[in-house]
Amino acid sequence: MSTSNTGAAIACATHPNVETYLRCAQCGKPICPRCLVMTPVGAKCAVCAKARLLPTFVLSPLNVIVAFFVTLFVAVGLGLIGSIVLRIVPLLLIAFPFGVGIVLAEAISRSVNRKRHLYLQILAGAGVVLSYLVLGFGEFFFHGPLELLQSGMLVPLALNVVMGTIISPFTLIFVAIGVWIAVYRVR
Ligand SMILES: [Zn+2]
Ligand SMILES: [Zn+2]
Repeated sequence: MSTSNTGAAIACATHPNVETYLRCAQCGKPICPRCLVMTPVGAKCAVCAKARLLPTFVLSPLNVIVAFFVTLFVAVGLGLIGSIVLRIVPLLLIAFPFGVGIVLAEAISRSVNRKRHLYLQILAGAGVVLSYLVLGFGEFFFHGPLELLQSGMLVPLALNVVMGTIISPFTLIFVAIGVWIAVYRVR
């Protein structure tokens, strides 16, 4: 706790009739238990606590756009890479959502300067699902029989493959854990 103890009781800056030993960890203003705000770096006055919280929890319109496109590119990119690697390492199917969750959360978090917001958590969760869909499609397109791809049945076949991948309860559990990892890590 970086709050300094002054030794002698002083009047709170906000509540002059309340004596206190505490000072704001940032500006040194006397604070009392009624007005102090606990922060990760110690007790602060309301003004300093707010000044620290606001930039971290408010997203600018640019943040919103950047985070969206970062999610889109990373999710699609990982899905495509994953669908190629999947043939070499079939077990990847299980580890994939976890890896995507970690990488995606890190990418989103960095793109907005480590800000935290519900919007980012939703993006991260949706990104894992999107990535898994791309993985399913990619697997199909890269490895599906060429005659089938040219037969005009492309869309129904692709849907069939993706639904088969996504609807499986086994897969759903891993995707759900991947979503949870992503959401947890951007929080
Ligand atoms: Zn202060
Ligand atoms: Zn006070």
